[in-house]
Amino acid sequence: MLITEYVFEIYPNKNLMTIIKNITYFALIMLVFLRSATPSETNQEFNLAEIAKNNYVHTGNHVSIEDVGNDDIANIGFIVGNNCVAVIDTGGSIKTGKKLKNSIREITNKPICYVINTHVHFDHILGNKAFLDENPNFVGHKDLAEAINRNRDFFLTQFKNNLGLKAKASDIIGPNILIEESTELELGGRTLTLIPFSISHSHSDLIVIDNKTKTLWAGDLIFKERIPSLTGSLKGWIKTIDKIKKLDVQKVIPGHGGIAKSLAEALKQQQDYFKLLLNQTRKAIAEGTFINEAMENIDKDNQLKWLLHDYQHSTNVSKAYTELEWE
Ligand SMILES: [Zn+2]
Repeated sequence: MLITEYVFEIYPNKNLMTIIKNITYFALIMLVFLRSATPSETNQEFNLAEIAKNNYVHTGNHVSIEDVGNDDIANIGFIVGNNCVAVIDTGGSIKTGKKLKNSIREITNKPICYVINTHVHFDHILGNKAFLDENPNFVGHKDLAEAINRNRDFFLTQFKNNLGLKAKASDIIGPNILIEESTELELGGRTLTLIPFSISHSHSDLIVIDNKTKTLWAGDLIFKERIPSLTGSLKGWIKTIDKIKKLDVQKVIPGHGGIAKSLAEALKQQQDYFKLLLNQTRKAIAEGTFINEAMENIDKDNQLKWLLHDYQHSTNVSKAYTELEWE
């Protein structure tokens, strides 16, 4: 049925002007409906979801850091307040950072006041440069600036493709605001609480709580589905998780893996893994098992069904072993 026939059918006795008016309204309504029903191509491609009011997450893919696509493996996103926007992690390349920025600009024109990095690893920070022209404050753990300085050359050689062949050390952007203790950032009608931790997953871990929606951005202190990578301290990480468990939050965005509806759901797989790693590594050390043997035998069959277990698990055992043998 044509729009005009449709209008005549519902308004058979109206005069011509009313009919034209109604056709215009109808067309406008259809236009608004079609626009909202079909998300813009960029956001659709970039797989962006509003998981709580004005709190948007792009979920990373589970490929190893040596594979193509390693620049888009972490969960990254942003929170929109009345006055401005805070970005949380920027992805593992300038290209991913730009995609995130473009997706923000499709949703709001408010200034980006903060770019917060949850820790030093490349998959969370190399996209920072894409936000430079927005003039935000770059925010991170008190030890993040130093950690980035230590890693600049490594990032430049190891992740050349992610930064561009002509990349310079100055393209890796560190924080200008360093967080030493629990700190609030104001976005206008919306406060974020940032909490830094001592050595856990890394040496520069920080979480972000969106107080309005009780949403926790956990960074890599929480992994789901994808196996955790232990680069800091197993015992430190377990202590940090005990503190995180006391927080009053609902939804949880892990650094890698699906969004969880509660802390208990977010932590289940990782807690079981840490228990296994701690107990079995301690046992191996007590029995005089050599590190190579421990790396080969502990949790050989991937009891918790982690993704990328073959790729990461034995490195975790080795890290745990060298930490626990001095107990
Ligand atoms: Zn990560």
